[in-house]
Amino acid sequence: MKTTQKLSVIIPIYNESGIINTLYDRLIAAVKTVTNNYEFIFVNDGSKDDSFKEILALAQKDKNVFYVDFSRNFGHQIAVSAGLKYVSGDCTVIIDGDLQDPPELIPELYKEYENGFDVVYAKRKKRDGETYLKKLTSKWFYRTLANITNFDIPIDTGDFRLISKKVVDALNKMPEQNKFIRAQIAWLGFKDTSVLFNRDSRKVGESGYSYGKLLKMALDGVTGFSDKPLLFVSRLGLLISLVSFVIILYALISYFFFNQEVTGWTSLIVSTMFIGGIQLISIGVIGEYIARINTDVKKRPLYIVNQTNIDSTEAVELK
Ligand code: UDP
Ligand code: MG
Repeated sequence: MKTTQKLSVIIPIYNESGIINTLYDRLIAAVKTVTNNYEFIFVNDGSKDDSFKEILALAQKDKNVFYVDFSRNFGHQIAVSAGLKYVSGDCTVIIDGDLQDPPELIPELYKEYENGFDVVYAKRKKRDGETYLKKLTSKWFYRTLANITNFDIPIDTGDFRLISKKVVDALNKMPEQNKFIRAQIAWLGFKDTSVLFNRDSRKVGESGYSYGKLLKMALDGVTGFSDKPLLFVSRLGLLISLVSFVIILYALISYFFFNQEVTGWTSLIVSTMFIGGIQLISIGVIGEYIARINTDVKKRPLYIVNQTNIDSTEAVELK
């Protein structure tokens, strides 16, 4: 039995030319087993190849295909956030455009939505084509994040998931400029569940996520959802002050009472370098927070749209 509910699909696209037609075919086949009431929103995140041409051709063929074409590359998280402003479905699927997330899982995700879940994660059973280092760092990162925040981001999940309209509306109300969608959804805390799947390796093109971008996302996750690093820095300062107080006492007592100077270039250079390092790291931690306050205060638009075939009055106005 098909439902009459409307299903929206957000697909961020950055240099995915060559697989967009296959992607569309597989999406359509999967979605049509669930409903005929659907929309696909392709967010072209400043692709430098023919991706946008291919999307335009699809939009001409299928009136349920929509596009938002950015003026340049703004990043995956922002592309998805933009899509969220434009969707009109009762529920929304976020899926990667490189076919690493199998569209065939959508009916299963939808089934759990019908069972009353607002967030249905697609959880990876195995991750083909990812290096041991990437798996290890991501595991370590999620564990750290869970320790310093009071919510859990389910491990081995990406942004491939189905969310209800309630969740979309709540996400659209979150004003931060540095988006980290999976943490935002975890923070919101609606009723969630997961469906297991095998994540394929990338067949065409290359990952748009460099280690630099991953690091930025990790820092967004930490600074956006926890003040613990700041507390840690101030406690570390306190600890080091206490230790240095003891050392100062030792130096003064040996000088005045025992007429001994504590000698040594080594001890001096070691302590100066140590304190210097700690100070720079601490300033860096504060800097990460300040940089984000700065972008939030500027309130620039998150992204700039070059063209779209969605009636912009319908799109939720940007903050
Ligand atoms: N993507 C994007 N903007 C970017 C980088 C990636 O819209 O700056 C899209 C990309 O086309 C893909 C999805 O985001 O649909 C996931 O990107 P990628 O495959 O590079 O990430 P990974 O699978 O390596 O985590
Ligand atoms: Mg990928």
